Amino acid sequence: SSKLINTSRFFGIRNFHSSSSLLAHNTKLFINGQFIESKTKDWVEVKNPATQELVTRVPISTKDEMQAAVDAAVAAFPGWRDTSVSNRARIINNLRVLINQNMDKIAALITEEQGKTLPDAKGDVFRGLEVVEHASNVASLMMGETMENVSKNVDIYSYNQPLGVCAGITPFNFPAMIPLWMFPLAIACGNTYVLKPSERVPSASMFLADLAKQAGVPDGVLNIIHGSKDAVNFICDDPNIRAISFVGADHAGKHIHDRGTKNGKRVQSNMAAKNHATILPDAAKDRTLDALTGAAFGASGQRCMALSAAVFVGEANNWIPELVERAKKLKVASGACPGADLGPVISPESKNRIHKIIQTAIDEGANVILDGRNVTVDDKFAKGNFIGPTIITGVTPNMTCYKEEIFGPVLVCLKADSLDEAIKLINKNPYGNGTAIFTNSGAAARKYQHEIDVGQVGINLPIPVPLPFFSFTGSRGSFVGANHFYGKTGVQFYTQIKTITSNWRDDDVSSGVATHMPILG
Ligand code: NAD
Repeated sequence: SSKLINTSRFFGIRNFHSSSSLLAHNTKLFINGQFIESKTKDWVEVKNPATQELVTRVPISTKDEMQAAVDAAVAAFPGWRDTSVSNRARIINNLRVLINQNMDKIAALITEEQGKTLPDAKGDVFRGLEVVEHASNVASLMMGETMENVSKNVDIYSYNQPLGVCAGITPFNFPAMIPLWMFPLAIACGNTYVLKPSERVPSASMFLADLAKQAGVPDGVLNIIHGSKDAVNFICDDPNIRAISFVGADHAGKHIHDRGTKNGKRVQSNMAAKNHATILPDAAKDRTLDALTGAAFGASGQRCMALSAAVFVGEANNWIPELVERAKKLKVASGACPGADLGPVISPESKNRIHKIIQTAIDEGANVILDGRNVTVDDKFAKGNFIGPTIITGVTPNMTCYKEEIFGPVLVCLKADSLDEAIKLINKNPYGNGTAIFTNSGAAARKYQHEIDVGQVGINLPIPVPLPFFSFTGSRGSFVGANHFYGKTGVQFYTQIKTITSNWRDDDVSSGVATHMPILG
């Protein structure tokens, strides 16, 4: 059962130091179409969360390197903007094909650095690939509006034009999907790009940059820098960067929004979540409990759309023992082991933080009816950051385990006497990323979708992440900024509207000088 799929070191982006005892290799920068070794003295170690083995070292880019990336993006912009929209779309389409062909390799890199299971890592790539498919339709997405004859001989039309240099800052939990929410649509619209991936999971982004180069993305159109706080502040402050896309936790998201907008930039910032499932007693029990188990514990709860709080209404509360039985059957193992359901969490620090939150639940009077803290895994992974599925009942909204985003395989269970009470509870939570209701009542579902103050609602469907022809519409505390990611709003974010009013006539007959405000009509 612990046969490992060999995930590592099968492609040429990483720089091998065969002389080094660690056999580690450094992650490069991608600037102006070249993979470059950083000159920094400051490196972050990325360790496989299932083993603590060193996978790669990520450079904290120097100021000069970050400047070189922006300079390359500035220089590439005029030529890329003037590349025909069809040719830009063709290049994005090439990227789509290459991602499809390399899905397994990208997934393996994700599993090695992030820990999620291989099938889940493929889902990570696939959900990003869908946004690339969407971006390859950029011509129709970017079309403006026209109106003939707003006055005699006068027409108005508008264009959606690219902004210039845009930047993206991404989190650790979706190493492929979230970079793919950002740069393909941005560059399809004619912008150039600087991406700063999470320093904890850099390799999927580097692999994607290599594919973008192969697809025909010209030098300087996509650049990748690495780092953490200083790189983020550099992006917020650089006067040439016009727009910033951020996905991650609240602290950085609010900071980037404030600092970026103060500097006159557009910012879209997707942040943390506490996603509630509402379970009504008339729901299809087996399907509901299956869905809940998968959505609470899949990816070890490290999805921003994980169902991390369950509100059982009335008699549905009696189903909890059956939920526990399902959770107990999940296999906790290295994400590279066939049959694994849950891999490790991202770091030992994260594991400790989650352990502490579980302890607060006990201290504050809740019941940990399934405790994943002492989970056992294959000896080979004794050093991994594993936590088993954990279920806490008797939770009330004032408890720490309810108030904090746990971001681990922990489901907190609350009770409500009615649908109204459940809706009230959920609307009081500061976050508005996602929610799901499970019921066989159309009337209850209709009431829920209308009254719930959450941006993405599933009806008998967990994890309702919209497909890219819609947008990712988390609301309230889970989002701040200009326009949502992908869909029509994503195109609006990466473009500015120019409106042209034209007056073409075939005579030169004077109608006199008018000094009043012109009125068309
Ligand atoms: P994080 O905020 O720690 O890191 C995200 C990015 O911000 C990284 O690139 C990191 O280098 C940078 N960063 C971190 N701390 C910073 C600081 N103090 N100043 C400036 N930059 C900083 O997030 P994470 O732990 O990588 O990701 C998990 C979080 O992301 C969770 O809260 C999750 O809910 C959220 N998330 C949200 C969505 C969504 O669409 N709403 C999607 C995925 C993840």
